[in-house]
Amino acid sequence: MALAGEAAADNITGMLRSVIRFTGLFLLVLSLTVVARADELLWKAGVAKTIITPAEGLWMAGYGSRTAPAQGKAMELWLKVLALEDAEARRAVIVTSDLLGFPQSIYSNLCAAVKTRFDLNPEQLMFSASHTHSGPVLRGALYDIYPLDDTQLARIEAYSARLETQVLETIEQALADLSPAQLAAGQGHTAFAVNRRNNPEGSVPQLIAEGKLQGPVDHTVPVLAVRQPDGRLKAILCGYACHNTVLSFNQWAGDYAGFAQTALEQSHPGAQAMFFMGCGGDQNPLPRRELALAERYGRMLAAAVEEVLLAPWSLLPAKLVTRMEMVPLRLGAAPTEAELETLQTDSSVFTRRWATRLLAELRAGETFIREYPFPVQVWKLGNRQWLFTLGGEPVVDYALKFKQEFGEQAWVAGYCNDVMTYLPSRRVLREDIPPLANPRWGYEGSYAFIVYGLPAHRWAEDVEDRVTDAVRGLVAQVNQAE
Ligand SMILES: [Zn+2]
Repeated sequence: MALAGEAAADNITGMLRSVIRFTGLFLLVLSLTVVARADELLWKAGVAKTIITPAEGLWMAGYGSRTAPAQGKAMELWLKVLALEDAEARRAVIVTSDLLGFPQSIYSNLCAAVKTRFDLNPEQLMFSASHTHSGPVLRGALYDIYPLDDTQLARIEAYSARLETQVLETIEQALADLSPAQLAAGQGHTAFAVNRRNNPEGSVPQLIAEGKLQGPVDHTVPVLAVRQPDGRLKAILCGYACHNTVLSFNQWAGDYAGFAQTALEQSHPGAQAMFFMGCGGDQNPLPRRELALAERYGRMLAAAVEEVLLAPWSLLPAKLVTRMEMVPLRLGAAPTEAELETLQTDSSVFTRRWATRLLAELRAGETFIREYPFPVQVWKLGNRQWLFTLGGEPVVDYALKFKQEFGEQAWVAGYCNDVMTYLPSRRVLREDIPPLANPRWGYEGSYAFIVYGLPAHRWAEDVEDRVTDAVRGLVAQVNQAE
């Protein structure tokens, strides 16, 4: 009896356990159904990442003042991919990287190869660079500002070709990893970006203390969280509008964005943290030039992201629309032969190299380009989250303008697909036409053209209008497609 009783008790306990297990499962399913609507559960996401730290002493990108190639690394440089697929199997691929910017030749090669191998169009591809100034020089980018010999040029070419292969391999891995996921979008805040045109760098600590920093900034931190169906984080994509220029030493580093991603990946084991640059063309992390500051700003950015991840989130329906236009942006007046002859003896070595090169091209009968195909993308994730991408180095005015027009849900990434020079607003373009009213002006709207090697001193007057019209047109196309 005792034995039978024990058996009966065991049976009852077993039945109860089954009921509890079933009820628990039912409640789990119920809670997921409550939290996520059916169309929010139909995303697929895949991730992959590759170390792209150069193996040997390549020249470093971004500053013309360096006198020697890289020596060692402070941290690895990464290439990371997030592949997304919506409920109707429409795909998009986000590539982020610890690079200064993808130059046109690499962008074109990648688009062609991705089309052939994965049947994805350029509108579905976002190639983003963090704009770290502690990464490698890439093929054809900013050659006038570095003293490159043939050995260096060969190394740059070899690295660039290998990078193209690595991008394709990483995209392939991310696509192979596509599996059910949920997406949520949120926005945080951190304030270490300073408008560099309106605040003298040496005075910034004092201006911060006095609350007297000037000029427009965008301190928002967009966050896209990608979770597995069980709630575990799979990827965190965050952005910030500020140059990755804390560091200027000769070691490879992802700067503050590198530290931020490391902190997030340590905090969320198994998740892949990714960073995209916002419209930070005129924004610097100030004060700067110390490794400890890069780490501090990285932690500040990571903390802003963590706050967003802790807050209640609403899921995005599994719907993805991607559109793109290569906008022909007109260049300002081309330099004349007489002007180039004069500039061959300019005090700036960049200007001398630029003038000498252009003069040779002119005398060889070549004609200068008058327009540049400028990439503009508009994506919509779910029913409300916009992601706009612009090529080049857009100043902060673009983000502020598009947020005003399309709401806080409009994220604007710069430094995407092709970084050919700065993208000034009309305000900055005009401020940078001599005579300059401020000694810190003149770069983003003008001199950057020489630094980047383009055959003009600035974009044409209508640059902001053309980019704005393109964004509006693409938004209309996306809305029509819904
Ligand atoms: Zn820059």
